Amino acid sequence: MPSDAIQSRDPDYLEGLNFPLLEARLQDSGVNPVHAKALFNAVHRRLEGALTEEGDHLVPPLRRWLSSDGAPRACPLESITETPSSDGYTHKYLLRLADGAQVEAVQMGFPGRFTACLSSQVGCAMGCVFCATGQMGFARHLTAGEIVAQALHVERQLRASRGERLRNIVMMGMGEPLHNFEATMTALEILTDNRGLNIGPARVAISTVGHIPGIEQLTRHPKRYSLAVSLHGASDTERAALVPVNKKWPLADLIQTCRDYSRLKRARVFFAWTLIGGVNDSEDHARRLAALLSGMDAHVNLIPLNPTEGFEGDAPFDERVRAFQQIVQDSGLPSTVRQRRGIDVAAGCGQLKVARANRA
Ligand code: SAH
Ligand code: SF4
Repeated sequence: MPSDAIQSRDPDYLEGLNFPLLEARLQDSGVNPVHAKALFNAVHRRLEGALTEEGDHLVPPLRRWLSSDGAPRACPLESITETPSSDGYTHKYLLRLADGAQVEAVQMGFPGRFTACLSSQVGCAMGCVFCATGQMGFARHLTAGEIVAQALHVERQLRASRGERLRNIVMMGMGEPLHNFEATMTALEILTDNRGLNIGPARVAISTVGHIPGIEQLTRHPKRYSLAVSLHGASDTERAALVPVNKKWPLADLIQTCRDYSRLKRARVFFAWTLIGGVNDSEDHARRLAALLSGMDAHVNLIPLNPTEGFEGDAPFDERVRAFQQIVQDSGLPSTVRQRRGIDVAAGCGQLKVARANRA
């Protein structure tokens, strides 16, 4: 199969079946669903990839089922390159999917608290001007299995290289996770299942451009993942110049949706603000941001701009970043400046992209 062609979109991957669905599939195929636990364990804990060959410890009915026509198969995720950052902890993985499309996943963190940053789409349809993924355009959604397989890949590498395990998942790689809601939520259900990787829901962050219908769905969702909303502008005009979908989901509506989320879920909302020198880094911007969020249980993450090919702009000088943060904090909002990690290998926020040939 040519590696650069977008071909089939077979979503029937073992990694993408949540536990109840796996039981149902076994039942439908005449296999006792009691075996679901062993199979789920093999995929998500023992991390066995090609189960029909390696899964010798599985009971014969499972092995027979896995090698039969119509059974789900393991997601064939091929690692093209693994690029370690000079910081020693950040690794960027370029992964090829069955149809030739490519995505990136990033391992970040420190011993004892490693995080996988996962992609939800090949490219992104939201078109934020300063983001390399947005500059690529949109190719396709990832399936739940393809999202889970990225996490399992990072977990496998962590175990092999450091004897460590993943503690956190952030949906902050390529794509807008709430634009691919069902697959993202199925993937997170699987990754937080205590029969599998067992990542705590509070250790899962979903970052969104401000997709209002998606945030409303999250508000009604039984689980409470951590919600991060990318703002970057404190008025509609300013924000729309950076984040085109602000025209569809204007700021006032977005903030109200976040207030509702915070109140109904009793949860803090994290707001991301990419600081661009001379664009949105003034003290006036900081004051207006603080006013916008006043009274909400909110936390502001400041991300000095990472360079991308398609956007001319620079990160502000450190003192401006500090002055901005001071104003936000003085207003009573906790705030963190995101450490710039992995920039040397273009694994920083907004720097993930793949070759043009992999666009639809
Ligand atoms: N689509 C989602 C999640 C992926 S982007 C979202 O936009 O929230 C993860 C974060 O990186 C977002 O907060 C995004 O605004 C930020 N980002 C994008 N491009 C960036 C860049 N060039 N420098 C710094 N941050 C960037
Ligand atoms: Fe898409 Fe997020 Fe990049 Fe915007 S910042 S283009 S929503 S990935």
